[in-house]
Amino acid sequence: MNMIRTLAIFFTLLAATTGAAARAAEGSGHFDPKGKPPSTYTQRILQDAGTTLPFSDRRDFEEQKRGFIAAADQLQIPADAGHVAWDMARFGFLNGSTGFDSVHPSLHRISTLNMNYGLYEVRPGIYQVRGFDLADISFIRGKTGWIVIDPLTTAETARAALALFQKHVGQGRPVTAVIYSHSHGDHWGGVRGVVDEADVRAGKVEIIAPRDFMQHTVSEAVYAGNAMNRRLFYQYGLLLPASPYGYVGQGLGQGLSAGQVGLIAPTRIIQGDIEELVIDGVRMVFQNTPGTEAPSNMNTWFPDMKALWMAENVTATLHNIYTLRGAPVRDPLRWSKYIAQALYRFGQEAEVMFASHHWPRWGNDRIQEVLRGQRDLYAHMNNQVLHLANQGVTINEIHNVYRLPASIQNAWYLRGYHGSPEHNSRGVVQRYLGFWDNNPATLIPKSPADSAPIYVEMMGGGAKIIARGRELIDEGRYHDATEILNKLVYAEPQNQPAKDLLADAFEQLGYQQENPGLRNSFLAGAYELRAGIPTAPVADSRSADVVRAMTTELFLNFLGIRMDSTKAEGMRFTVNLVTPDNGEKFLIEMENATLTNIEGFLADKPDLTLTINRSDLEQTMMGVKPLTAQVADGTAKAEGDLGVLKQLASTMVDFDPRFPIMPGTQLRAPEIASTDPFAATTAMEPSGE
Ligand SMILES: [Zn+2]
Repeated sequence: MNMIRTLAIFFTLLAATTGAAARAAEGSGHFDPKGKPPSTYTQRILQDAGTTLPFSDRRDFEEQKRGFIAAADQLQIPADAGHVAWDMARFGFLNGSTGFDSVHPSLHRISTLNMNYGLYEVRPGIYQVRGFDLADISFIRGKTGWIVIDPLTTAETARAALALFQKHVGQGRPVTAVIYSHSHGDHWGGVRGVVDEADVRAGKVEIIAPRDFMQHTVSEAVYAGNAMNRRLFYQYGLLLPASPYGYVGQGLGQGLSAGQVGLIAPTRIIQGDIEELVIDGVRMVFQNTPGTEAPSNMNTWFPDMKALWMAENVTATLHNIYTLRGAPVRDPLRWSKYIAQALYRFGQEAEVMFASHHWPRWGNDRIQEVLRGQRDLYAHMNNQVLHLANQGVTINEIHNVYRLPASIQNAWYLRGYHGSPEHNSRGVVQRYLGFWDNNPATLIPKSPADSAPIYVEMMGGGAKIIARGRELIDEGRYHDATEILNKLVYAEPQNQPAKDLLADAFEQLGYQQENPGLRNSFLAGAYELRAGIPTAPVADSRSADVVRAMTTELFLNFLGIRMDSTKAEGMRFTVNLVTPDNGEKFLIEMENATLTNIEGFLADKPDLTLTINRSDLEQTMMGVKPLTAQVADGTAKAEGDLGVLKQLASTMVDFDPRFPIMPGTQLRAPEIASTDPFAATTAMEPSGE
């Protein structure tokens, strides 16, 4: 996703919400003036969970604190731009707490475990700083310096983690290599906080990454980037204050940092399925695991230290098969098989296993237990969802039918803190069979807003639905209440009592969830139904490094998505684009109100030929310098009709990530800081998540 831009929006919107938070603080402790405490029904569900889950198994707590060296000096890490990049202080309410009646006890448990910010020894020669960002950063002792694995999301948090490490363990020895375990931004975005690019260029620091890393760092989330950004506000609860009634962490970690994202391209790509290398005197065996938690991904075995790095393929949770913010569905069977390979190739002699989130596992029995459990978790999900689908269970039923076996449910390291059995099981059906449940009634359905009025009419109108909705809520039947109130809200988007009541149902459902993404989504829906989408203006910001990582073809493809086809009716032109510095050429055509491009071809009689170095084109992609200005000052050479550029620009639309999700929640006219019509939207995913 366009994380950089999303975070900028987050901060402007957060400023707009603090007034509401302050008002509510006078009353119940709920941040929202319309917020409700958990009902007795919700409390009972959470109490039952507290008695059925294996709370006597305290091994995670022992492992989480093992090897502790030093805490962080401060709870907040400032961003270079002046705001707060990372804030553990806002989770102070978790310290010493034994639980909240508005938080699932299992979610409370993982959020408490994720309060482990500081420096830890994994084994002599391997260290981790945890709790400085969504992910962990790891340090391996090399012959001449330190090898860093996964330098967090932003330069500020990575720099602070390195400083803490150097203060207690590092002895000022330099960083000699960086390993990106996979293509998600929370594992490389902070690289500029731990190395100087000049040292990389000079060959003093190697940067190692899995096969196809650069293709996937940016491409996974460009085309649908704006929609993903918007959905991120639900999955990650970006507008929800940290509170027992709101945000209580993200399961993988307490959240994403909000600093400067950068990217330095790898100097060495691991190509083989299994490849052995010696980096700064340290022997490493890499296992590429494409198509698992990330499209480009690898585990690493350190044979001389008997240490197994499982990247984000095995952490202390069920991970996402389907990601709520939106992403192509992952392959659980393949994921399971790569874990099985790691188990039999390295896991038989491993003495410690560590990963990019959570904490390590020590002792071969424990390592094998966790690897076997994770292997079976993804295989079970794949096989048994398909077992049910082959008997007619559909995507709209599977989450109510599919159950994990008791042994998996009772293992903490397999609980749904990132993926949930509910949304993952639907994802597996989606992967194999797609969205349609095969019932013709849902084949080409009316849009919700168009189908709702007939329901409302047949149910006897809004007043009756509200009365019945209130009864259902009083009986604790929140899903049933949601069914009918959602129809009313679609039919009458300005009916605030209906929206408030639907919000009440969402809120209770949110409190009941173990999974942070599900909880945040319900609570975010409630928040926006009650107050609307905050009206603060959006500041735009882009990371130069991330735009630079986009191929020209990706950029041109995205222009075709930004183009409003209704504005291009009747337009017809061809443009040859030549970028001499990297030897690429593109034929761009506007025809049938559709913008296409093909690499490696040029039109014989183009309307316009543009010649510009790719390095200069990047200024346009970033929105710093329009193409017309590039031509005007001679940076770009243009032959032919410059008018076609103006035509193309007139079709471009800036996507606004504040579009409404729930009906009647848009408070303001859409407006967005205007950008260059040809600028690219940088997009990246924080974590697979
Ligand atoms: Zn991650």
